[in-house]
Amino acid sequence: MLTKVLTLELRQDCADTAAIGGMADLVQSWRERLLTAVDEAKAPHLEQLTSRFAHYPELSGADRRQLAEEMLHQLKSAPADGGSQSAPDGSQLSGEAPLTDLDGIGPRRAKILANLGIYCIGDLLLHCPIRYEDRTQLTTLEDAQHRQTATVRVRVTGPGRAIRAKRISFAQVPVEDDTATGNLVWFNQTFRVNLYPPGTEMIVTGKVRIHKGKISLAVSEEEVLGEEEIIHSSRLVPIYPLTQGISAVMMRKLIHQALQRCSQIPSGVVPPAVQQARQLPLMEEAVREVHFPKSQSAAQQARRRLAYEELFTLQAALARRRHAVKRPVAQSQVSSDGIGRRLQQALPFELTAAQRRVTDQVLADLASPQPAYRLIHGDVGSGKTVVAAAAVLAAIEAGRQAAVMAPTEILAEQDWGVLRELLSPFGYQPALLVGSLPSESKAQLREQLASGELKCVVGTHAAVAVIDEQHRFGVVQRAKLAAKGDHTNILVMSATPIPRTLALTAYGDFDISVLDELPPGRKPVHTELIVGRDRKRAYEFIIGQANRGRQTFIVCPVIEESDQQYLVAAEKLFGRLKNYIFPTLKLGLVHGRMPTDQRETTMEAFRQGELDILVATSVIEVGVDVPNAVVMMVENAERFGLCQLHQLRGRVGRSDQQAYCLLLTNSRSPEVIDRLQVLERTTDGFEVAREDLRRRGPGELTGTRQHGLPDVRMADLLAETAILVQARDDAFALIADDPELQRPEHQPLAHRIAQIARHSPAWTL
Ligand code: ADP
Ligand code: MG
Repeated sequence: MLTKVLTLELRQDCADTAAIGGMADLVQSWRERLLTAVDEAKAPHLEQLTSRFAHYPELSGADRRQLAEEMLHQLKSAPADGGSQSAPDGSQLSGEAPLTDLDGIGPRRAKILANLGIYCIGDLLLHCPIRYEDRTQLTTLEDAQHRQTATVRVRVTGPGRAIRAKRISFAQVPVEDDTATGNLVWFNQTFRVNLYPPGTEMIVTGKVRIHKGKISLAVSEEEVLGEEEIIHSSRLVPIYPLTQGISAVMMRKLIHQALQRCSQIPSGVVPPAVQQARQLPLMEEAVREVHFPKSQSAAQQARRRLAYEELFTLQAALARRRHAVKRPVAQSQVSSDGIGRRLQQALPFELTAAQRRVTDQVLADLASPQPAYRLIHGDVGSGKTVVAAAAVLAAIEAGRQAAVMAPTEILAEQDWGVLRELLSPFGYQPALLVGSLPSESKAQLREQLASGELKCVVGTHAAVAVIDEQHRFGVVQRAKLAAKGDHTNILVMSATPIPRTLALTAYGDFDISVLDELPPGRKPVHTELIVGRDRKRAYEFIIGQANRGRQTFIVCPVIEESDQQYLVAAEKLFGRLKNYIFPTLKLGLVHGRMPTDQRETTMEAFRQGELDILVATSVIEVGVDVPNAVVMMVENAERFGLCQLHQLRGRVGRSDQQAYCLLLTNSRSPEVIDRLQVLERTTDGFEVAREDLRRRGPGELTGTRQHGLPDVRMADLLAETAILVQARDDAFALIADDPELQRPEHQPLAHRIAQIARHSPAWTL
């Protein structure tokens, strides 16, 4: 369409008359579209041309002509103006072919797609729509109802008009379909008058207004129909997740092209035997159906097949990793005789039944010829540290070494303190190794570790490795660690209780133990959401508690510890609380960017009860254990995720005293309030995790999103436990049978797993 205007402009001797509002504006309004639609190699040149058009009014006639001709030439060689895209060149591509073999994809777009986990044509074909739009049932202009939203297919019948009134401006374009005529209206987008020349066919969605028998449609979505209109209209149209730089329409076109040009749609990795046993439809059919389905139910079937494919692949990769990690080792095993009993004797409390059970499981792992590889999850306060201590003790007694790692220095310091206490009756002294130590001390500790003189180290980054608060570590670190010590026994601990479906995917290679019991006498933390001005009541409550000798945490949201601005905010808040709100109380401040010794001093003072209130950033989110602290107040609670708030709440209620969690917010958004009320309703971490998962998706919960785990679409998955369990059973059986994937019928799977590992380091064995 831009080509038409340019042609007209040339015909009119470049008088800048072809476009309403002038050529400069018109080309500008096309800029984004041109740049995203053309073949990538041409983009820089086009960009330069578009910029030159900004000066069109000032150019001489000759220069104008030259510029217009050049632009026209560019557009004709790479039509991108919503008009006819060149037909695919017909050459056949294999599923393995790089994306750049497709028309319209260069290195830049290939990179964007790689971010979606799409690396080759085969991947692209597996990129599923999130939903379908039913365009088999378009409305006609005649049937459009006043005030309703309608989707209609129309033809532009004349030039558009830009209408500018005092308070409002809009573009108005006359259209018709086979039943009636009407106007399309775009508010505040007068540039659109030039975009749709007479004859343009388009599908538009918008709100209908019928005034004195005249129909107009305030357009919210439009799609110009090109030659491949068949892809876009009169059917169930696939809607893909949007990404910056790739529009939904472009994605649709790319996939359509890939489907047409792919010589053989990948037949998937599920071996024929499994395929038959589960009566799965053929992958080739499923792939075609999932993009351009005949019906909603056909689409649903196809999605289930693809979900199975994805889950099966993931589970096979997990099974292989597990197989590799669990290979029996010759090295002496860690005897666990009497460890549990001796630890119990040294403790001031009785282990809970859950602690005893899980400790036994861990000690049995250590005694077995296969390295331990276990996830322990349990709600905050369920007493995971003691279990870790049992493992560490067993390792040291067997003449091996132990490393305990934590995601933050504060937590490492604290785990160190607790372990020191727990291990001292046995005569062992763990050392603390964190980044902020002077480098000589670090070097010295490393030397002592290497020589074997040092038996146990607690640190932020490690025989037994215990990883505390695993959910903060993410998957990559875990994989690196597994690769590090050959025969390392690995225990990871997580305080985010996760639903079983998620555990089986994110941690599907681990043995899993659940600490499903809290130490006796714990009262549920009383949680209250405090909105707006009510905060005064909260402050008074805290003062009351302080007068009775109880302590309080006040947490303010610093999302990124590196964010200077937020730290300033935290310090300001601290000053305000200290000087104006709690002038009679003793307050301390900790955050992640403080020198270690300063922070340590403050934490210790709080632990010792010398401070009434500890103001902190979310560095204290995990693990921190000060039993005399009974109030957790969170400022701007809406800025935290539910699981994170649950963690914070877990900092209190660690003794038999009643504890309180006060969530402050100034937000009045019903959505925010509703979300925070989940915490008022329940103190069960599993329930909180389920709600969080439902609202935010699984990536946030497991830290997998950024780490390249194949992104199983969990929303689907949660409803599809049956598929997951089937896929897992099948995959684990297959690996048990052919662990190295050597059989010919397992080659596609072997290949696929290798491919995933190449792109996501987390999957390297
Ligand atoms: P988390 O699972 O959150 O890491 P911790 O290991 O920090 O929990 O334990 C929470 C608190 O409960 C600590 O103060 C710990 O000493 C105490 N604790 C652990 N086990 C028991 C038990 N069996 N009986 C009583 N208190 C316990
Ligand atoms: Mg802990």
